[in-house]
Amino acid sequence: MSSTETRADLIVVGAGPAGASAALAAHRAGLAVVLIDEAGRPGGQVWRAPAAGVAIPEALRTQDDRDGAELRAAVAASGLRFVGDARVWSVTGRFRVDAATEAGTEAFVAPRLVAATGAHERVVPFPGWTLPGVIGLAAATVLLKSEAMLPGRRTVVAGCGPLLAAVAAKIVAGGGTVSGLVDLAGPADWLAVAPRLARRPRLLRQGLGWMIRIGLARVPVHFRHAVVAAEGGEAVEQVVIAPVDAEGAPVAGTRHRIAADALAVGHGLLAGAEIPRLLRASLRFEAEAGGWIPVLDTAGRTSIAGLYAAGDGAGIAGAAGALLSGRLAGLAAARDAGALAEGAFAAARDRILAERHAVEAFAGAVRRLMRPRRGLVDAIAPETVVCRCEDVTRAEIDAAVMAGAREVNQLKHFTRCGMGPCQGRFCGDTAAELVARHVGSREAAGVWTARPPLRPVPLDTLLGDFDYADIPVPKPAPL
Ligand SMILES: Cc1cc2nc3c(=O)[nH]c(=O)nc-3n(C[C@H](O)[C@H](O)[C@H](O)COP(=O)(O)OP(=O)(O)OC[C@H]3O[C@@H](n4cnc5c(N)ncnc54)[C@H](O)[C@@H]3O)c2cc1C
Repeated sequence: MSSTETRADLIVVGAGPAGASAALAAHRAGLAVVLIDEAGRPGGQVWRAPAAGVAIPEALRTQDDRDGAELRAAVAASGLRFVGDARVWSVTGRFRVDAATEAGTEAFVAPRLVAATGAHERVVPFPGWTLPGVIGLAAATVLLKSEAMLPGRRTVVAGCGPLLAAVAAKIVAGGGTVSGLVDLAGPADWLAVAPRLARRPRLLRQGLGWMIRIGLARVPVHFRHAVVAAEGGEAVEQVVIAPVDAEGAPVAGTRHRIAADALAVGHGLLAGAEIPRLLRASLRFEAEAGGWIPVLDTAGRTSIAGLYAAGDGAGIAGAAGALLSGRLAGLAAARDAGALAEGAFAAARDRILAERHAVEAFAGAVRRLMRPRRGLVDAIAPETVVCRCEDVTRAEIDAAVMAGAREVNQLKHFTRCGMGPCQGRFCGDTAAELVARHVGSREAAGVWTARPPLRPVPLDTLLGDFDYADIPVPKPAPL
């Protein structure tokens, strides 16, 4: 096992738009910065770099790829320390960050820490969601971007928000077939947010480009529909969809069966606030912003001195919002470390806040489209698995609540829901919604108490080349 400890003025966890811009801003202000990411290169989700050795065909390249390349060049040219392929599995005290790398474990220590770990996706369970071939909508973007790989030959793309069109258009551009685009929103929902989307003309044009590509490929589009089942033997073979109301609850109307060998489905994004949660920073619940998010001041300071949060992990705001909140958190860290004068910081902060105000309308519209739908959760059948790591069904969750589990940590003790390798990242939101149905609100249903490991870590990474022969065995006592 190799185990080293690196000291810095600031550690930034997450090298997406938020973390990379936080690190760059603080480094330029004079702080010694370590930027850590589990990916091999900076870029995060939206500007994800292709995997080593993967060439992305020209037809699949977008403005996001160019923006990502620019960000990577800026980080490389800056001289700040980037640690890639490093999974942060523990954060303690003020502040020690442990990361698992190929070479073993590495520890980083600094008086300041920016948590910029982005989002993860919400998939509200339905029968068959655990079948091979069913993947998350956001996960599909990872396949397409880093591996230039299609999710399947005939893919149904379903759920809500702009990722629907982004994924469908990329599949078409990559030579795949989208056998149906199933959107929880209806044309009226899109029209209602159109003026706010129009505030970012470049992104609006990008969205229209996706729609044109989808239209030219004659992809059948089903507005105000939801996936109600994925069916198949060894893997998904068909996807059943039904008309729904504005809250995602099935309504009377024709059900369609769509033949497919893949289903990419996602119901919005959840803020990845594990580090503030682990360190017991104050949190608040805001459904459209991605659930439990840290309470922040205007510059991204949490309730814990020296701990900052930025980007989607502090509330879903997209790449532009993440860039700005990251820059602000990096500057606040530099200001608090004494590397930046108050006047210079305040002027920069006010400029960034004004810019952020301008991107907020667009981000709000996207959040609206991706908002959680109550009816979708209510429609989960009793026998449907909610926690796929521990195989816990909705009926078991309801039974646990009827038996006295009043909040999610009690639910965990009653059922093991949320105790598997994903540590509740996939089931947590749905499980909490189900508990909230009984106890009145998400605030009352509470939030999982975070514990390390933040990410699954192989035991041999922690133990290294441990061998029983290395244990010193005392000599037998003389008789
Ligand atoms: C899977 C996925 C795909 C997405 N694809 C798109 C897309 O194609 N287009 C789009 O507009 N938006 C996409 N989004 C939304 C996107 O996350 C944001 O708009 C934007 O990238 C937010 O920037 P960020 O810096 O806050 O977070 P991110 O870009 O998500 O960056 C967070 C970074 O933190 C790292 N990280 C997290 N936890 C750890 C840990 N424990 N240890 C080490 N590193 C860690 C991640 O590897 C990641 O690089 C996607 C979201 C998800 C979850």
